[in-house]
Amino acid sequence: MPDAGSLVLVATPIGNLGDLPPRAIEVLGAVELVCCEDTRRTGRLLQHAGVHARRLAVANEHTETARLAEVIDVLAAGGDVALVTDAGTPGISDPGERLVHGVIDAGFAVSAVPGPAAFVTALVISGLPTSRFVMEGFLPRSGSARRERLAEVAAEQRTVVLYEAPHRIERTIADLAAVCGDDRPVAVARELTKLYETVVRGTLGSITLGEPRGEYVVVLGGAPAAAAASPTDVAAAVDRALDRGLSTKEAATDVSAALGVGRREAYDIAVARRRSRRSAGISTPAAGKNGA
Ligand code: SAM
Repeated sequence: MPDAGSLVLVATPIGNLGDLPPRAIEVLGAVELVCCEDTRRTGRLLQHAGVHARRLAVANEHTETARLAEVIDVLAAGGDVALVTDAGTPGISDPGERLVHGVIDAGFAVSAVPGPAAFVTALVISGLPTSRFVMEGFLPRSGSARRERLAEVAAEQRTVVLYEAPHRIERTIADLAAVCGDDRPVAVARELTKLYETVVRGTLGSITLGEPRGEYVVVLGGAPAAAAASPTDVAAAVDRALDRGLSTKEAATDVSAALGVGRREAYDIAVARRRSRRSAGISTPAAGKNGA
């Protein structure tokens, strides 16, 4: 569709209005339709930027899917459509994903004006490892969904970034401490890019947040990698497996899975243990058909 329009996801400030990307101003003034979560809030932003939008329409978490038909009509007629949210990058814990899917499925182009996102801002100033990280967004609020997600977060070895509301921040830090331990490093960023921006760095058991107020991002250090099993540990585990009557190969497979060591390493140790047990006269229960 050469003359068709495209959907443009436009990032907006997460606090400081000076962070509106210059290209965002250009795009918002040029498109046929601006979809937003809240027309009053986006109206204020546009006014601040001196932009006169041709048409505003609401695409929030309830209306995003219903808005798709209108967006497609505009694109098919050759107009461009912009999507903004109340703050930050659309589609990041915000509406956007469903509209993007629908527009792609209908065969139209999607692009973005990149800009602020609270998770990236918090991550890069956290002081925690940034080379590998996971963005978890908001945790489920309660029940087994929350417990299961907390367990996944606790086991994650990469840095984890979470969004949280002020009235739940203390409980979330306490829940994280319960599953990760008090010693896990954490940085809690509050009111990023705003007048009262603060970052508290420490451990889950030691940080003091003060009165919960404003918007929060939690950046959690990853779980430490399990200590590598030593050859002595592997040999002891192999002995126990051989005592249970496993073959050399079965013992190697069993120990490799249990201790997280390579199959080849476990097998070599199992062969050596069977041989030295035999020469030391230690009886090993008969193994299955894969015996030796
Ligand atoms: N789309 C946004 C983005 O790109 O970051 C996120 C929207 S989500 C509905 C709102 C959450 O983002 C807040 O509850 C808070 O966890 C985080 N957030 C947004 N702005 C923030 C700020 N200035 N400081 C700290 N956290 C912020």
